Amino acid sequence: MDKNIISKVTQSTSGGFLEKHAALKIQRTIDALKKRNIDGYFADSHESLYEIFDQITKDDKVMSFAGTMTIFDTNLLDHMRTRDVKLLDRYAEGLSQDDIKQIYRETFFADTFVMSSNAITEDGVLHNVDGMGNRVAAMVYGPQKVIVVCGINKIVKDDEAAQNRIREIAAPINAMRVGAKTPCTTTGVCHDCSSPGRICGQYVTIRKQQPGRMHVIFLNENLGY
Ligand code: SF4
Repeated sequence: MDKNIISKVTQSTSGGFLEKHAALKIQRTIDALKKRNIDGYFADSHESLYEIFDQITKDDKVMSFAGTMTIFDTNLLDHMRTRDVKLLDRYAEGLSQDDIKQIYRETFFADTFVMSSNAITEDGVLHNVDGMGNRVAAMVYGPQKVIVVCGINKIVKDDEAAQNRIREIAAPINAMRVGAKTPCTTTGVCHDCSSPGRICGQYVTIRKQQPGRMHVIFLNENLGY
């Protein structure tokens, strides 16, 4: 057990048992990720997140990112915009739908791709669902490096809990966010619908990566859905 994470978590908050419990959960997950060739980190503040991010990506020239609330919650996207890199910015003003599709394709050649995850199990498995598939495709293969930024709310016990999290939290809330006309936006849970507006198309589970490619940075706060 890395006492460093426990001490960082407890020092960054009131230092109580809840914080220690969170630190132990993050440490367990980081240890499990390591066995799957995925590097794990703990950031005790947004500034610490930027420092870790800059260290991992210090030689990178082209960056891209997925549509994730976490990069807004942490202001990581603003930080990326200050870096001296080519940023494939899907939110730049004046882009057409074709421009955005082009960014999705160029992302496969980026040095760095930033995203969050719908759920990560305590034994280090990443679970994600995607509509078109551009996010999970780049996660699996293409960009040289994938950086996953994750609040503690995304850590779950096992694969079943991860799929439940997707069906009961992540997907319905994301459907609400994009204004999808799907049953989950009125009931709050997944109905495995056949609606034309269904946002859940591709379910991807990552159990192993090539060494050095995937990095997961955890924060002890609730981020995204
Ligand atoms: S499959 Fe349909 S009902 Fe289920 S979360 Fe996705 S959009 Fe909502």
